[in-house]
Amino acid sequence: MILTVTLNPSVDISYTIPDLRLDTTNRTDQVGKTAGGKGINVTRVIHDLNKAVTATGFIGGHLGEGIVSELNKNGIKTDFLSIEGDTRNCIAILHDGQQTEVLESGPTITDKENAAFLTHFKQAVDYADVITISGSLPKGLEEDYYVKLIQITNDLDKKTVLDTSKSNLSSVLESPFKPTVIKPNIEELSELLGQKVSADPANLKVVLADELFSGIEWIVVSLGGDGAFAKHGDRYYKVSIPNINVVNPVGSGDATVAGIASALEDNLDDISLLKQAMTTGMLNTMERITGHIDINHFDDLFNHVTVSEY
Ligand code: ATP
Repeated sequence: MILTVTLNPSVDISYTIPDLRLDTTNRTDQVGKTAGGKGINVTRVIHDLNKAVTATGFIGGHLGEGIVSELNKNGIKTDFLSIEGDTRNCIAILHDGQQTEVLESGPTITDKENAAFLTHFKQAVDYADVITISGSLPKGLEEDYYVKLIQITNDLDKKTVLDTSKSNLSSVLESPFKPTVIKPNIEELSELLGQKVSADPANLKVVLADELFSGIEWIVVSLGGDGAFAKHGDRYYKVSIPNINVVNPVGSGDATVAGIASALEDNLDDISLLKQAMTTGMLNTMERITGHIDINHFDDLFNHVTVSEY
């Protein structure tokens, strides 16, 4: 079973308002509401891969209940910790070919809830083979909270995929507790190193050899439509993907994480892991719904991904 962690989930609302007007009332009957947050996207894609998955994190109020019931209705298991605060809404208004977003910051986690989740998480990790940890932290948690979660997965000897950025990522890299995989994109890598990183494979090979990444088994740098560059131990790989018809690329990194976690659970070899990671990422771009793939096209795309040692 794969356990996914989403500490600040959301109900993602989309309003389509072709001619949005400010300082007046806008009405629409084109409304979408779905469970969101990077870890929730990972969860859905793992489920689409027909793999067993359980979603955990913090959930509160009616919106939190709505997320749990949506996931359960779709056959996805949940094991969230209930909190006093209310799970947030994130609103996207689609207008004039543009997207305007309003993102609530979400509930503040109390000290009691902080400590309770560590116990809750430890019990859930015990039943899991692979754990994915995605996104940013809710208010109230220290920036090294993911270090604590990874200490637990390390202690229980479980594989962990971490997909986060900024201080949440750097605090993990600086700690003695290491995830099995990190999946930065080029912007996240640049932020981390405090300099603009070029996607040139020769340059990435030098960058990924940096001491900062020591102890991390896999680094998969996703490069959007240009595929990926990866390091596993002392082997480096350049991954090329075919041209495809992109409908909505949002959440492709999350779908890539789902592909990686599922490959780790199945102990796939390096080349198959990377091909699967790219395939789930690409499949996500071909769907309108964020964090969803159509597995019927999996084999065809998988066979068009090429991995070469660099
Ligand atoms: P997000 O933040 O939206 O979740 P990300 O920046 O973390 O995405 P990307 O590098 O954009 O992740 O995409 C992950 C993978 O998805 C890519 O490695 C690739 O396999 C696939 N992908 C993303 N964008 C495209 C695209 N335009 N064309 C083809 N494949 C894509």
